[in-house]
Amino acid sequence: MHPKLKDVYNPENFRAIGHQLVDLLADSLHNNLDKSREKVIDYISPEKNYTAWEEMSRSEPITVFKKILENSIQLQHPGYMGHQVCVPAPLAVLAGFQGLMLNSGGAIYEMSAAASTIEKLCIDKLKPFFGFTEGDGILTSGGTIANLTALICARNIKAKEEIWSEGQNQKYAFMVSEEAHYCIERAVKIMGWGDEGIIKIPVDGNFVMKNNLLEQHFQKAKNNGIRVIGVVGSAPTTSTGKYDELKGIGKFCKIHNLWFHIDAAHGGPAVFSEKYKHLMAGCELADSITVDAHKMMMVPSLTTMLFFAKSDDSYKTFAQKAQYLFFEGNQEWYNYGKRTMECTKVMLSTRVFMLLHTYGTDIFGENIDACYENAGIFAGLIKSIDKFELAVEPDSNILCFRYKSNDEKYNNSINSLIRSALLNNGKFYIVQTTLNEKIFLRVSLMNPFTDKEDMMSLLKKILELAGQLENA
Ligand SMILES: *Cc1c(COP(=O)(O)O)cnc(C)c1O
Repeated sequence: MHPKLKDVYNPENFRAIGHQLVDLLADSLHNNLDKSREKVIDYISPEKNYTAWEEMSRSEPITVFKKILENSIQLQHPGYMGHQVCVPAPLAVLAGFQGLMLNSGGAIYEMSAAASTIEKLCIDKLKPFFGFTEGDGILTSGGTIANLTALICARNIKAKEEIWSEGQNQKYAFMVSEEAHYCIERAVKIMGWGDEGIIKIPVDGNFVMKNNLLEQHFQKAKNNGIRVIGVVGSAPTTSTGKYDELKGIGKFCKIHNLWFHIDAAHGGPAVFSEKYKHLMAGCELADSITVDAHKMMMVPSLTTMLFFAKSDDSYKTFAQKAQYLFFEGNQEWYNYGKRTMECTKVMLSTRVFMLLHTYGTDIFGENIDACYENAGIFAGLIKSIDKFELAVEPDSNILCFRYKSNDEKYNNSINSLIRSALLNNGKFYIVQTTLNEKIFLRVSLMNPFTDKEDMMSLLKKILELAGQLENA
Protein backbone atom coordinates (compact mmCIF):
# COMPACT_ATOMS: atom_id res chain seq x y z
CA MET A 1 0.00 0.00 0.00
CA HIS A 2 1.18 3.49 -0.82
CA PRO A 3 2.32 5.26 2.38
CA LYS A 4 0.10 8.25 1.56
CA LEU A 5 -2.95 6.01 1.61
CA LYS A 6 -1.91 4.70 5.02
CA ASP A 7 -1.50 8.26 6.16
CA VAL A 8 -5.05 9.10 5.05
CA TYR A 9 -6.48 6.51 7.45
CA ASN A 10 -4.03 6.94 10.33
CA PRO A 11 -6.17 6.85 13.52
CA GLU A 12 -3.71 9.05 15.45
CA ASN A 13 -3.82 11.76 12.76
CA PHE A 14 -7.58 11.64 12.94
CA ARG A 15 -7.53 11.95 16.72
CA ALA A 16 -5.11 14.87 16.70
CA ILE A 17 -6.81 16.88 13.94
CA GLY A 18 -10.23 16.04 15.37
CA HIS A 19 -9.34 17.46 18.78
CA GLN A 20 -7.93 20.60 17.17
CA LEU A 21 -11.08 21.07 15.13
CA VAL A 22 -13.41 20.57 18.08
CA ASP A 23 -11.36 23.09 20.08
CA LEU A 24 -11.56 25.57 17.22
CA LEU A 25 -15.33 25.19 16.93
CA ALA A 26 -15.92 25.29 20.70
CA ASP A 27 -13.89 28.52 20.99
CA SER A 28 -15.83 30.00 18.12
CA LEU A 29 -19.16 29.05 19.69
CA HIS A 30 -18.01 30.70 22.90
CA ASN A 31 -16.95 33.92 21.17
CA ASN A 32 -20.21 34.14 19.27
CA LEU A 33 -22.46 33.57 22.26
CA ASP A 34 -20.67 35.95 24.62
CA LYS A 35 -20.66 38.56 21.83
CA SER A 36 -16.89 38.98 21.86
CA ARG A 37 -16.88 38.24 18.14
CA GLU A 38 -17.65 41.44 16.29
CA LYS A 39 -18.94 40.33 12.91
CA VAL A 40 -21.57 37.87 11.69
CA ILE A 41 -20.19 38.02 8.18
CA ASP A 42 -17.01 39.31 6.63
CA TYR A 43 -18.32 39.88 3.15
CA ILE A 44 -15.91 39.48 0.27
CA SER A 45 -16.85 39.40 -3.41
CA PRO A 46 -16.99 35.96 -5.06
CA GLU A 47 -14.14 36.84 -7.45
CA LYS A 48 -11.81 38.06 -4.71
CA ASN A 49 -12.70 35.08 -2.62
CA TYR A 50 -11.90 32.69 -5.45
CA THR A 51 -8.48 34.25 -5.92
CA ALA A 52 -7.78 34.11 -2.19
CA TRP A 53 -8.58 30.41 -2.05
CA GLU A 54 -6.73 29.66 -5.26
CA GLU A 55 -3.61 31.40 -4.02
CA MET A 56 -3.62 29.82 -0.57
CA SER A 57 -0.29 28.18 0.11
CA ARG A 58 -0.06 24.58 1.20
CA SER A 59 -0.84 24.40 4.91
CA GLU A 60 -1.77 22.16 7.84
CA PRO A 61 -5.39 20.94 7.93
CA ILE A 62 -6.18 22.99 11.05
CA THR A 63 -5.02 26.17 9.26
CA VAL A 64 -7.41 25.40 6.42
CA PHE A 65 -10.24 24.65 8.87
CA LYS A 66 -9.62 28.06 10.48
CA LYS A 67 -9.81 29.77 7.10
CA ILE A 68 -13.08 28.01 6.30
CA LEU A 69 -14.50 29.17 9.64
CA GLU A 70 -13.43 32.77 9.10
CA ASN A 71 -14.77 32.78 5.55
CA SER A 72 -18.19 31.53 6.69
CA ILE A 73 -21.23 33.35 8.00
CA GLN A 74 -21.63 32.89 11.78
CA LEU A 75 -25.09 31.57 12.53
CA GLN A 76 -24.27 31.36 16.24
CA HIS A 77 -23.74 35.15 16.36
CA PRO A 78 -26.79 36.90 17.90
CA GLY A 79 -26.66 39.38 14.99
CA TYR A 80 -27.56 36.56 12.60
CA MET A 81 -31.19 37.16 11.66
CA GLY A 82 -31.20 36.11 8.02
CA HIS A 83 -32.33 32.98 6.25
CA GLN A 84 -34.29 30.17 7.87
CA VAL A 85 -31.59 27.76 8.89
CA CYS A 86 -31.04 27.01 12.54
CA VAL A 87 -28.10 27.37 14.85
CA PRO A 88 -27.49 23.64 15.14
CA ALA A 89 -27.25 22.14 18.61
CA PRO A 90 -23.66 20.86 19.05
CA LEU A 91 -24.97 17.44 20.11
CA ALA A 92 -26.88 17.12 16.84
CA VAL A 93 -23.74 18.22 14.96
CA LEU A 94 -21.75 15.49 16.70
CA ALA A 95 -24.38 12.96 15.65
CA GLY A 96 -23.94 14.19 12.09
CA PHE A 97 -20.18 13.85 12.41
CA GLN A 98 -20.48 10.31 13.66
CA GLY A 99 -22.85 9.55 10.80
CA LEU A 100 -20.29 10.76 8.27
CA MET A 101 -17.55 8.65 9.81
CA LEU A 102 -19.71 5.49 9.86
CA ASN A 103 -21.12 6.36 6.42
CA SER A 104 -23.82 3.78 6.90
CA GLY A 105 -27.13 5.51 6.50
CA GLY A 106 -28.74 3.66 3.68
CA ALA A 107 -31.54 2.32 1.63
CA ILE A 108 -31.43 -1.16 3.09
CA TYR A 109 -31.61 -2.28 6.68
CA GLU A 110 -28.40 -4.31 6.75
CA MET A 111 -26.45 -1.20 5.79
CA SER A 112 -28.13 1.00 8.37
CA ALA A 113 -29.48 -0.97 11.32
CA ALA A 114 -29.12 1.88 13.83
CA ALA A 115 -30.10 4.70 11.46
CA SER A 116 -33.18 2.93 10.04
CA THR A 117 -34.50 1.74 13.40
CA ILE A 118 -33.96 5.16 14.94
CA GLU A 119 -35.66 6.75 11.91
CA LYS A 120 -38.84 4.80 12.66
CA LEU A 121 -38.57 5.58 16.36
CA CYS A 122 -38.25 9.33 15.72
CA ILE A 123 -41.26 9.35 13.37
CA ASP A 124 -43.33 7.27 15.83
CA LYS A 125 -42.47 9.51 18.79
CA LEU A 126 -43.12 12.77 16.95
CA LYS A 127 -46.18 11.97 14.81
CA PRO A 128 -48.72 12.17 17.69
CA PHE A 129 -47.83 15.86 18.09
CA PHE A 130 -49.28 16.38 14.60
CA GLY A 131 -52.43 14.51 15.59
CA PHE A 132 -51.49 11.37 13.69
CA THR A 133 -52.60 8.40 15.77
CA GLU A 134 -51.67 5.92 13.09
CA GLY A 135 -49.31 7.01 10.31
CA ASP A 136 -45.68 6.71 9.35
CA GLY A 137 -43.00 8.72 7.62
CA ILE A 138 -39.50 9.07 6.29
CA LEU A 139 -36.50 11.34 6.71
CA THR A 140 -35.09 12.96 3.64
CA SER A 141 -32.54 15.56 2.54
CA GLY A 142 -34.54 18.77 2.56
CA GLY A 143 -38.05 20.15 2.38
CA THR A 144 -37.87 20.46 -1.39
CA ILE A 145 -37.44 16.70 -1.81
CA ALA A 146 -40.02 15.98 0.91
CA ASN A 147 -42.62 18.16 -0.81
CA LEU A 148 -41.91 16.56 -4.19
CA THR A 149 -42.20 13.10 -2.61
CA ALA A 150 -45.54 13.98 -1.01
CA LEU A 151 -46.97 15.36 -4.25
CA ILE A 152 -45.86 12.31 -6.25
CA CYS A 153 -47.49 10.12 -3.61
CA ALA A 154 -50.70 12.16 -3.82
CA ARG A 155 -50.69 11.82 -7.60
CA ASN A 156 -50.23 8.06 -7.40
CA ILE A 157 -53.14 7.71 -5.00
CA LYS A 158 -55.63 10.26 -6.33
CA ALA A 159 -55.16 10.10 -10.11
CA LYS A 160 -57.59 7.91 -11.99
CA GLU A 161 -54.92 6.36 -14.22
CA GLU A 162 -51.65 4.44 -13.73
CA ILE A 163 -49.36 7.44 -14.22
CA TRP A 164 -46.33 5.84 -12.60
CA SER A 165 -46.12 3.04 -15.15
CA GLU A 166 -48.15 4.26 -18.10
CA GLY A 167 -47.82 8.04 -18.19
CA GLN A 168 -50.77 10.37 -18.11
CA ASN A 169 -53.55 11.37 -20.46
CA GLN A 170 -55.56 13.72 -18.27
CA LYS A 171 -54.71 17.14 -16.86
CA TYR A 172 -54.12 17.55 -13.14
CA ALA A 173 -53.38 20.36 -10.69
CA PHE A 174 -52.64 21.25 -7.09
CA MET A 175 -54.06 24.36 -5.46
CA VAL A 176 -51.71 26.41 -3.34
CA SER A 177 -51.33 29.91 -1.85
CA GLU A 178 -49.76 32.46 -4.17
CA GLU A 179 -47.29 33.04 -1.31
CA ALA A 180 -46.20 29.37 -1.12
CA HIS A 181 -42.55 28.37 -1.37
CA TYR A 182 -41.34 28.13 -5.00
CA CYS A 183 -40.39 24.47 -4.54
CA ILE A 184 -44.09 23.50 -4.71
CA GLU A 185 -44.33 24.98 -8.19
CA ARG A 186 -41.05 23.29 -9.07
CA ALA A 187 -42.39 19.93 -7.89
CA VAL A 188 -45.51 20.33 -10.03
CA LYS A 189 -43.38 21.22 -13.06
CA ILE A 190 -41.07 18.27 -12.46
CA MET A 191 -44.20 16.10 -12.60
CA GLY A 192 -44.81 17.61 -16.02
CA TRP A 193 -48.06 19.45 -15.31
CA GLY A 194 -46.85 22.83 -16.56
CA ASP A 195 -48.32 26.20 -15.60
CA GLU A 196 -51.83 24.75 -15.58
CA GLY A 197 -50.76 22.26 -12.94
CA ILE A 198 -50.43 24.86 -10.19
CA ILE A 199 -53.45 26.95 -9.28
CA LYS A 200 -52.39 29.89 -7.15
CA ILE A 201 -54.99 31.10 -4.69
CA PRO A 202 -54.76 34.80 -3.75
CA VAL A 203 -53.92 35.85 -0.18
CA ASP A 204 -55.70 38.35 2.04
CA GLY A 205 -54.21 41.54 3.50
CA ASN A 206 -52.39 39.40 6.10
CA PHE A 207 -50.75 37.22 3.39
CA VAL A 208 -52.91 34.24 4.38
CA MET A 209 -54.49 32.13 1.61
CA LYS A 210 -58.16 33.02 1.05
CA ASN A 211 -59.80 29.67 1.75
CA ASN A 212 -63.15 31.02 0.59
CA LEU A 213 -61.76 31.16 -2.96
CA LEU A 214 -60.83 27.45 -3.06
CA GLU A 215 -64.29 26.33 -4.25
CA GLN A 216 -64.51 28.70 -7.21
CA HIS A 217 -60.98 27.88 -8.41
CA PHE A 218 -61.74 24.19 -8.03
CA GLN A 219 -64.90 24.50 -10.17
CA LYS A 220 -63.16 26.66 -12.74
CA ALA A 221 -60.40 24.06 -13.16
CA LYS A 222 -63.01 21.33 -13.49
CA ASN A 223 -64.82 23.27 -16.21
CA ASN A 224 -61.49 23.58 -18.03
CA GLY A 225 -60.96 19.83 -17.89
CA ILE A 226 -58.32 19.94 -15.14
CA ARG A 227 -58.65 17.53 -12.27
CA VAL A 228 -57.52 19.02 -8.94
CA ILE A 229 -55.66 16.36 -6.94
CA GLY A 230 -55.04 18.26 -3.74
CA VAL A 231 -54.33 21.45 -1.82
CA VAL A 232 -51.02 22.46 -0.25
CA GLY A 233 -51.19 24.58 2.90
CA SER A 234 -48.23 26.68 4.05
CA ALA A 235 -47.28 26.60 7.72
CA PRO A 236 -46.02 29.22 7.44
CA THR A 237 -45.22 30.92 4.11
CA THR A 238 -41.58 31.82 3.59
CA SER A 239 -41.72 35.56 2.87
CA THR A 240 -43.94 36.73 5.72
CA GLY A 241 -44.06 33.72 8.04
CA LYS A 242 -47.88 33.65 8.13
CA TYR A 243 -49.69 30.35 8.69
CA ASP A 244 -52.53 29.36 6.37
CA GLU A 245 -55.80 28.50 8.10
CA LEU A 246 -55.26 24.75 8.00
CA LYS A 247 -58.59 23.59 9.42
CA GLY A 248 -60.50 25.27 6.61
CA ILE A 249 -58.26 23.70 3.96
CA GLY A 250 -58.65 20.30 5.62
CA LYS A 251 -62.45 20.53 5.58
CA PHE A 252 -62.45 21.60 1.93
CA CYS A 253 -60.24 18.63 1.01
CA LYS A 254 -62.51 16.18 2.84
CA ILE A 255 -65.59 17.45 0.98
CA HIS A 256 -63.95 16.98 -2.43
CA ASN A 257 -61.84 13.93 -1.58
CA LEU A 258 -58.58 15.80 -2.25
CA TRP A 259 -55.09 15.19 -0.87
CA PHE A 260 -54.17 17.68 1.84
CA HIS A 261 -50.45 18.31 2.11
CA ILE A 262 -49.00 20.80 4.58
CA ASP A 263 -45.68 22.39 3.80
CA ALA A 264 -44.71 22.98 7.42
CA ALA A 265 -41.00 23.01 6.56
CA HIS A 266 -40.44 26.03 8.75
CA GLY A 267 -43.19 26.11 11.32
CA GLY A 268 -44.31 22.52 11.88
CA PRO A 269 -42.41 22.30 15.20
CA ALA A 270 -44.87 24.82 16.68
CA VAL A 271 -46.80 21.66 17.67
CA PHE A 272 -44.20 21.13 20.43
CA SER A 273 -45.05 24.46 22.07
CA GLU A 274 -48.07 24.90 24.34
CA LYS A 275 -48.11 28.57 23.46
CA TYR A 276 -47.90 28.26 19.66
CA LYS A 277 -49.41 24.89 18.78
CA HIS A 278 -52.71 26.63 17.94
CA LEU A 279 -51.00 27.83 14.74
CA MET A 280 -50.95 24.22 13.50
CA ALA A 281 -54.60 23.54 14.43
CA GLY A 282 -56.12 21.41 11.69
CA CYS A 283 -52.85 19.64 10.84
CA GLU A 284 -54.46 16.41 12.04
CA LEU A 285 -56.66 16.61 8.92
CA ALA A 286 -53.64 16.41 6.59
CA ASP A 287 -52.61 13.40 4.51
CA SER A 288 -48.94 14.41 4.59
CA ILE A 289 -46.80 17.01 6.36
CA THR A 290 -43.26 18.23 5.60
CA VAL A 291 -41.18 19.43 8.57
CA ASP A 292 -37.58 20.62 8.24
CA ALA A 293 -35.67 19.71 11.39
CA HIS A 294 -32.86 22.00 10.15
CA LYS A 295 -35.03 25.08 10.49
CA MET A 296 -36.78 25.14 13.87
CA MET A 297 -35.46 21.96 15.53
CA MET A 298 -31.78 22.80 15.98
CA VAL A 299 -30.61 20.00 13.69
CA PRO A 300 -27.95 20.62 11.01
CA SER A 301 -28.97 20.84 7.33
CA LEU A 302 -30.42 19.00 5.57
CA THR A 303 -32.70 16.92 7.81
CA THR A 304 -36.37 16.77 6.90
CA MET A 305 -39.26 14.66 8.19
CA LEU A 306 -42.15 13.74 5.92
CA PHE A 307 -45.15 12.39 7.84
CA PHE A 308 -48.02 10.44 6.30
CA ALA A 309 -51.36 10.13 8.12
CA LYS A 310 -51.85 6.60 6.78
CA SER A 311 -48.90 4.19 7.05
CA ASP A 312 -49.72 2.49 3.76
CA ASP A 313 -49.59 5.77 1.85
CA SER A 314 -45.89 6.22 2.49
CA TYR A 315 -45.24 3.07 0.44
CA LYS A 316 -47.23 4.27 -2.57
CA THR A 317 -44.97 7.06 -3.79
CA PHE A 318 -42.67 5.06 -6.01
CA ALA A 319 -44.83 2.01 -6.67
CA GLN A 320 -47.37 0.97 -9.25
CA LYS A 321 -50.87 0.54 -7.91
CA ALA A 322 -50.81 -3.25 -8.42
CA GLN A 323 -47.49 -3.45 -6.57
CA TYR A 324 -48.63 -1.65 -3.49
CA LEU A 325 -51.96 -3.39 -3.32
CA PHE A 326 -50.10 -6.65 -3.23
CA PHE A 327 -47.82 -5.50 -0.42
CA GLU A 328 -50.45 -3.63 1.60
CA GLY A 329 -49.96 -4.23 5.31
CA ASN A 330 -46.82 -6.22 4.61
CA GLN A 331 -44.32 -3.52 3.84
CA GLU A 332 -40.77 -3.60 5.07
CA TRP A 333 -40.56 -0.40 7.09
CA TYR A 334 -36.86 -0.96 7.72
CA ASN A 335 -35.84 -0.85 4.04
CA TYR A 336 -36.24 2.90 3.59
CA GLY A 337 -34.95 2.96 0.01
CA LYS A 338 -38.37 1.81 -1.16
CA ARG A 339 -39.93 5.00 0.12
CA THR A 340 -37.31 7.70 -0.41
CA MET A 341 -36.05 9.61 -3.42
CA GLU A 342 -32.50 8.94 -2.27
CA CYS A 343 -30.81 5.59 -2.65
CA THR A 344 -27.70 6.09 -0.54
CA LYS A 345 -28.75 8.39 2.27
CA VAL A 346 -26.81 10.44 4.78
CA MET A 347 -27.40 9.24 8.35
CA LEU A 348 -30.12 11.70 9.34
CA SER A 349 -32.14 10.12 12.11
CA THR A 350 -29.41 10.14 14.76
CA ARG A 351 -29.19 13.95 14.56
CA VAL A 352 -32.81 14.24 15.63
CA PHE A 353 -32.64 11.31 18.01
CA MET A 354 -29.67 12.56 20.05
CA LEU A 355 -31.67 15.69 20.95
CA LEU A 356 -34.90 13.78 21.50
CA HIS A 357 -33.23 11.17 23.70
CA THR A 358 -31.15 13.63 25.72
CA TYR A 359 -33.55 16.54 26.18
CA GLY A 360 -37.01 15.19 25.30
CA THR A 361 -39.52 16.79 22.93
CA ASP A 362 -39.84 19.79 25.28
CA ILE A 363 -36.58 21.19 23.96
CA PHE A 364 -38.15 21.73 20.53
CA GLY A 365 -41.00 23.66 22.15
CA GLU A 366 -38.53 25.76 24.16
CA ASN A 367 -36.70 26.75 20.98
CA ILE A 368 -39.97 27.68 19.24
CA ASP A 369 -41.03 29.75 22.26
CA ALA A 370 -37.72 31.62 22.41
CA CYS A 371 -37.62 32.43 18.69
CA TYR A 372 -41.34 33.16 18.16
CA GLU A 373 -41.53 35.36 21.28
CA ASN A 374 -38.56 37.32 19.95
CA ALA A 375 -40.59 38.24 16.86
CA GLY A 376 -43.26 39.76 19.11
CA ILE A 377 -40.60 41.82 20.87
CA PHE A 378 -39.11 42.89 17.54
CA ALA A 379 -42.55 43.90 16.22
CA GLY A 380 -43.09 46.00 19.36
CA LEU A 381 -39.82 47.86 18.75
CA ILE A 382 -40.70 48.50 15.09
CA LYS A 383 -44.07 49.93 16.06
CA SER A 384 -42.48 52.21 18.66
CA ILE A 385 -40.32 53.94 16.03
CA ASP A 386 -42.11 56.28 13.58
CA LYS A 387 -39.68 55.77 10.74
CA PHE A 388 -40.47 52.05 10.50
CA GLU A 389 -43.42 50.19 9.05
CA LEU A 390 -44.33 46.61 9.97
CA ALA A 391 -45.65 44.56 7.00
CA VAL A 392 -47.92 42.40 9.13
CA GLU A 393 -48.12 41.20 12.76
CA PRO A 394 -45.87 38.11 12.92
CA ASP A 395 -47.26 34.60 13.54
CA SER A 396 -43.81 33.04 13.72
CA ASN A 397 -40.20 34.22 14.02
CA ILE A 398 -40.23 35.69 10.49
CA LEU A 399 -40.92 39.39 10.30
CA CYS A 400 -40.92 41.97 7.50
CA PHE A 401 -40.57 45.71 7.97
CA ARG A 402 -39.22 48.69 6.10
CA TYR A 403 -37.76 52.09 6.61
CA LYS A 404 -40.05 54.88 5.46
CA SER A 405 -38.54 58.06 4.09
CA ASN A 406 -40.64 61.18 3.58
CA ASP A 407 -41.09 60.34 -0.09
CA GLU A 408 -42.60 56.94 -0.97
CA LYS A 409 -40.90 56.89 -4.36
CA TYR A 410 -37.46 56.50 -2.75
CA ASN A 411 -38.44 53.79 -0.29
CA ASN A 412 -37.62 50.77 -2.44
CA SER A 413 -34.13 51.99 -3.27
CA ILE A 414 -33.42 53.15 0.29
CA ASN A 415 -34.42 49.79 1.82
CA SER A 416 -32.42 47.91 -0.75
CA LEU A 417 -29.37 50.12 -0.07
CA ILE A 418 -29.81 49.64 3.69
CA ARG A 419 -29.70 45.89 3.21
CA SER A 420 -26.47 46.11 1.11
CA ALA A 421 -24.88 48.50 3.60
CA LEU A 422 -25.69 46.09 6.44
CA LEU A 423 -24.07 43.23 4.50
CA ASN A 424 -20.89 45.23 4.01
CA ASN A 425 -20.88 46.38 7.63
CA GLY A 426 -21.15 42.76 8.78
CA LYS A 427 -22.37 43.22 12.37
CA PHE A 428 -25.85 42.00 11.47
CA TYR A 429 -27.21 39.75 8.80
CA ILE A 430 -30.74 40.23 7.48
CA VAL A 431 -32.34 39.72 4.05
CA GLN A 432 -35.00 41.44 1.95
CA THR A 433 -38.20 40.51 0.20
CA THR A 434 -40.77 42.15 -2.05
CA LEU A 435 -44.41 42.39 -0.92
CA ASN A 436 -46.98 44.01 -3.22
CA GLU A 437 -44.11 45.57 -5.17
CA LYS A 438 -42.60 47.17 -2.09
CA ILE A 439 -39.16 46.16 -0.86
CA PHE A 440 -39.16 45.08 2.77
CA LEU A 441 -36.35 44.12 5.09
CA ARG A 442 -36.88 40.63 6.41
CA VAL A 443 -35.58 38.96 9.56
CA SER A 444 -35.84 35.34 10.64
CA LEU A 445 -35.05 35.22 14.34
CA MET A 446 -33.43 31.80 14.22
CA ASN A 447 -30.96 32.33 17.00
CA PRO A 448 -32.44 31.87 20.50
CA PHE A 449 -29.55 33.95 21.87
CA THR A 450 -30.64 37.06 19.97
CA ASP A 451 -32.12 39.43 22.55
CA LYS A 452 -33.94 42.76 22.68
CA GLU A 453 -30.67 44.64 22.92
CA ASP A 454 -29.41 43.04 19.68
CA MET A 455 -32.67 43.95 17.92
CA MET A 456 -32.47 47.54 19.16
CA SER A 457 -28.84 47.80 17.99
CA LEU A 458 -29.89 46.59 14.55
CA LEU A 459 -32.68 49.16 14.33
CA LYS A 460 -30.35 51.95 15.47
CA LYS A 461 -27.83 50.87 12.85
CA ILE A 462 -30.55 50.97 10.17
CA LEU A 463 -31.64 54.48 11.24
CA GLU A 464 -28.01 55.61 11.09
CA LEU A 465 -27.49 54.11 7.61
CA ALA A 466 -30.81 55.51 6.37
CA GLY A 467 -29.81 58.97 7.61
CA GLN A 468 -26.54 58.77 5.67
CA LEU A 469 -28.33 57.52 2.54
CA GLU A 470 -30.96 60.27 2.70
CA ASN A 471 -28.32 62.96 3.05
CA ALA A 472 -26.19 61.57 0.23
C1 LIG B 1 -37.38 26.26 3.60
C2 LIG B 1 -38.68 25.91 3.01
C3 LIG B 1 -38.75 24.99 1.95
C4 LIG B 1 -37.52 24.38 1.32
O1 LIG B 1 -36.94 23.47 2.16
P1 LIG B 1 -35.40 23.00 1.98
O2 LIG B 1 -35.19 22.18 3.20
O3 LIG B 1 -34.57 24.23 1.91
O4 LIG B 1 -35.32 22.19 0.72
C5 LIG B 1 -40.00 24.67 1.47
N1 LIG B 1 -41.10 25.23 1.98
C6 LIG B 1 -41.07 26.11 2.98
C7 LIG B 1 -42.35 26.69 3.51
C8 LIG B 1 -39.86 26.49 3.53
O5 LIG B 1 -39.82 27.37 4.55
